[in-house]
Amino acid sequence: MKLARIASKTASTGQVHERHDDGFDLAYRLETAVWIFDIDNARVLKANAAACGLWMAGSEQELAARDMRTDMSPTVAQRLRQYQSDFIESDAAFNELWTIYPNGLPRSVMVVYRGHRLADGRMAMKCEVVGESVDSAQNLRSAEALLHTDVMIMLFSREGPSLYFNPAARRFCGGSEIAAIDVFEIPADLDAIVEVVETQGEHRGLYRLSTVSGSGWFDLSVKGCSDAATGEPALLLTAIDVSELKEARDTARHLANRDQLTNLHNRSYLQSHLDWMEETNAATGATVIVFDVDRFKQINDRHGHNAGDTVLRQIAMRTRAALEPDDLLARLGGDEFVIILPGPHDPVAATRRVERVRRAVAVPISHGEIRLEATISVGMSHITKTSTQFTKVIREADIALYHSKNAGRDQLTVFDADMSKAVDEREKLEIALKSAVLNEEFVLHYQPRLDLGSGQITGLEGLVRWDNPQAGLVSPDDFITVCEETGLIDELGRMVLEMGCAQAIAWRRQGLSLTLSLNVSPRQFADDEFLRCLDDLARQDGFPKGQIELEVTENVLIGDPLQIAEKLRRIVDMGYLIAIDDFGTGYSNLSYISQFPLHCLKIDRSFISQLPTSGPIVQLILTLGQQIGAKVVSEGVETAEQLQWLADRQCTEIQGFTSPDPCPPPIWTHFCKAFLRRIAHGRVEN
Ligand code: C2E
Ligand code: CA
Ligand code: CA
Repeated sequence: MKLARIASKTASTGQVHERHDDGFDLAYRLETAVWIFDIDNARVLKANAAACGLWMAGSEQELAARDMRTDMSPTVAQRLRQYQSDFIESDAAFNELWTIYPNGLPRSVMVVYRGHRLADGRMAMKCEVVGESVDSAQNLRSAEALLHTDVMIMLFSREGPSLYFNPAARRFCGGSEIAAIDVFEIPADLDAIVEVVETQGEHRGLYRLSTVSGSGWFDLSVKGCSDAATGEPALLLTAIDVSELKEARDTARHLANRDQLTNLHNRSYLQSHLDWMEETNAATGATVIVFDVDRFKQINDRHGHNAGDTVLRQIAMRTRAALEPDDLLARLGGDEFVIILPGPHDPVAATRRVERVRRAVAVPISHGEIRLEATISVGMSHITKTSTQFTKVIREADIALYHSKNAGRDQLTVFDADMSKAVDEREKLEIALKSAVLNEEFVLHYQPRLDLGSGQITGLEGLVRWDNPQAGLVSPDDFITVCEETGLIDELGRMVLEMGCAQAIAWRRQGLSLTLSLNVSPRQFADDEFLRCLDDLARQDGFPKGQIELEVTENVLIGDPLQIAEKLRRIVDMGYLIAIDDFGTGYSNLSYISQFPLHCLKIDRSFISQLPTSGPIVQLILTLGQQIGAKVVSEGVETAEQLQWLADRQCTEIQGFTSPDPCPPPIWTHFCKAFLRRIAHGRVEN
């Protein structure tokens, strides 16, 4: 059974609805077609002669035997269910246009439906034809569309009561006797809409409506019109359920605006929010605070990335809790965070806010069994008459943060204009270094290592200098850190290894047997290319196996000891030696030291300069070296007292101020003797 209907009027009243099968007797005598339709079983139960004629059935039995479900579409079945619940809910009758398909031929008739209670208690439908349709095919089709659509169509009188609900509207709202105000989840929405409709005639927007299954989001269109039946002013509401779409869009927006790890706002949200603040002038007076976690890399390296994630999540939560609801907190990535305090800049209040955050962060963070302690370095700046752009103010706060780091971390620095100069200089240095690396403007100078017993040179350390065309030789202390931070160290490190190896091969060809030490930075050591580079160099003709020593700092040995031991082992297998540079200043775990293939420990200069106070530490390192079978070299020996102290304790090798420039080995020997003589007479001038 295919049906279409036009509802000309709903909800007429006064129908007897508690009627039983036997109430049909009268209908048999009527000339108009009347039948009872069992909605549950999709069958005609009773039909008078006119109804049988309409359905082109030979008899009531023949009609009753037809299974109407066979050509009933799911939408029609759904609508019939809707009518059934309408009848159960209220005493409704519907006067509507139906298209029925007796033997497959369409016929449109006006039908009145009423609820009809069967003897077994179920609700059936009594259908009575009241006239033949005179509608055009086009009208019939639009009626069909109105019936089948999932768009809710509702007509309300301006006073509020409902005039018409299409089946979709009845299904969503659970009936049709609902006032306009009750359709809205937020009643005030209706007032606002009516106001717009009164001036502009119509309105469209996204609204939350109440439905039988809870509230949902609807794309709602409201038009002012007149009721076709009475001419009184009315409101026509058309609503499409967009809850799923909206949810998907909200989720997408949430994902796009939020940082996945901490659920804080992310960089892209911050950017658009600040743009908006600038556009709407809401930025006049905002304070910008940036902070990052001190030595965060170390937390990751020592305890793993999960521990690092826990620290970031905890810091995010604690910071949020320490701020006011209107303060904006975003994670820019890594361990960098930004706070924007809206409103006029109040230095005292802002500093207090930062102190609250720092105190919250300082409480130890648990990660499984371990407790981690984190501190933050903070920079602050604010919008002023001259700095009105957030990009500029964030940069200023960044500069202040950088100062906090340099001043020993775990502190707040407030930006002042002088700081910009330092940053500009640093930027210039970065640019100059990039081109220096490209143009290979670096050279190695060699500093000898001496055997205290024989006074002979046993080896040399290659120390890099930047041969700057304008400034002359630049000390590594002025550029190694910048190269580390910018990643230029990978390229520079490779250059140093190549230059060192080439020199070592040349010396060897001249018949000189010397150990050459080359410095390797932690970042360079961690780089995957590093091993490949060493391997290539070791395969060169004349490579002095066992005579090139790589100096790494203790920080390089922090992390998974098995992996590090394996990496060191591969390097040693290629023919290199390993030394630990600046020994005693880092955090190496002594219990692992013996598992690494180490050839040399270089006692840091700071211990030598503090002799004899630092004597016990130096003695300890000398003993440790003996036990693990590594040479110990004392660095930075400058005075006769230091030299004597070391000689008395069987320290065999020293390195210190002698010849800063590379010179051929015969001259070194001369230098070394002169050095020992000079050193015996007092402090050596650099
Ligand atoms: P380092 O590896 O500890 O090198 C020793 C530094 O101490 C050298 O400074 C050397 O000139 C200086 N020195 C030697 N004897 C004495 C002394 O008796 N007294 C004092 N006060 N200082 C002494 P330099 O050449 O300026 O190197 C500084 C640092 O730069 C090096 O410290 C090393 O950490 C880094 N560096 C140098 N060359 C390279 C390189 O090729 N790669 C990497 N990654 N770092 C390098
Ligand atoms: Ca060194
Ligand atoms: Ca050193």
